[in-house]
Amino acid sequence: SSDCPVQTFRARDLTITRSTNLKPFSDPRTMIGSSTDHMLKVSWSSSTGWGAPEIVPYAPIPLDPAATVLHYANECFEGMKAYRNKNTGKIQVFRPDLNAKRLNMSADRIALPSFDNDEFITLLRAYVVVEERWLAWSGNAAFTEADESDFLYLRPMMIGTTPRLGLAKPNDAMLLIIACKFPSWHSRPLRLLASSPAETVRAWPGGFGFAKVGANYGPTLQYQNHAASLGYDQVLWLFDADKRYVTEAGGANFFVVWRTDDGDVELVTAPLEAKTVLDGVTRRSVIELVRERMPDIRVTERQFSVDEIAAAVDSQKIIEAFACGTAFFIAPVGEIGITGRDVKIPLKVEGKSGVYARTIKRWLEEIFYGEIDHAWGVTV
Ligand code: PLP
Repeated sequence: SSDCPVQTFRARDLTITRSTNLKPFSDPRTMIGSSTDHMLKVSWSSSTGWGAPEIVPYAPIPLDPAATVLHYANECFEGMKAYRNKNTGKIQVFRPDLNAKRLNMSADRIALPSFDNDEFITLLRAYVVVEERWLAWSGNAAFTEADESDFLYLRPMMIGTTPRLGLAKPNDAMLLIIACKFPSWHSRPLRLLASSPAETVRAWPGGFGFAKVGANYGPTLQYQNHAASLGYDQVLWLFDADKRYVTEAGGANFFVVWRTDDGDVELVTAPLEAKTVLDGVTRRSVIELVRERMPDIRVTERQFSVDEIAAAVDSQKIIEAFACGTAFFIAPVGEIGITGRDVKIPLKVEGKSGVYARTIKRWLEEIFYGEIDHAWGVTV
């Protein structure tokens, strides 16, 4: 009945108003960081539930200065990419079901409403189709190098919009999807600065580091700037001043490969259980692919300390380290600043990457760009 709030938005209610003033571009890469032509939005209120989704020309949204998001940070977001399939030219996204689920989980953590994952994916696909021109494609001729490094970055997000300074669950929210061009991370190996957990931590057990909420990011910038001023690319976030456990590398999950005392090769990353790291789509994919395709490697999700990394370097048991995520993709790590000492991590492939990082990167690229048929590459 009309008294009953609508529990999810429905893709079949979508309306599309196309922009009549498309942004000019000759080379899409000149538009890096700037938004595309359209945005998707759906409003929610506690009394009526979700309204009808709309794709409209990209524009500022009206927001009351008392909107809860501006005061109590009820904002969560996702980051994902759309790619051209090398063989068909069709656009695909990577494991969108995981992003949908994670957006729901993050929204729940900050008291924003839930929605149906499949309806979300259908809307996302419709949005990407509307923005198709932003993905370079040289047509049916050979897939060029420019096409290959090209992708569209998608940024779904949800905010609390109720104008009220009293601290309470918002009665109104808005879900949006915007997109932009972004540079590929084809750069040199990363230099990481291990944070000093006595001074600052990003996430802690019982906190909300596992959720992709904006409140996890703003407060990292001060220390990130400190790291940058010392010549480091990202912060390797630790928590617990005594145990100095490793969590994540900036906005990416972090993996180490080393030889254990038994002589096994082990791929290690921080566990999800402590709730101090994001359940990264790339992290999960790395773990699943290595378990499936490299059965000789021991894959371990456990707490490990930055001092174990330093010890593995000293005993030459270290093999390599890399960060991974949608933004950084698979980014080899060449150096880590650990309490005043720069520890060198081997980069056996041309001084640029480790062998495992290189192999895993290639596996993922094959799926992103449709070189192989794989269930994780979803055609839009
Ligand atoms: N950790 C943090 C803090 C992040 O912001 C991200 C990026 O989304 C990741 C890890 C990697 O997650 P994903 O692989 O889903 O992009």
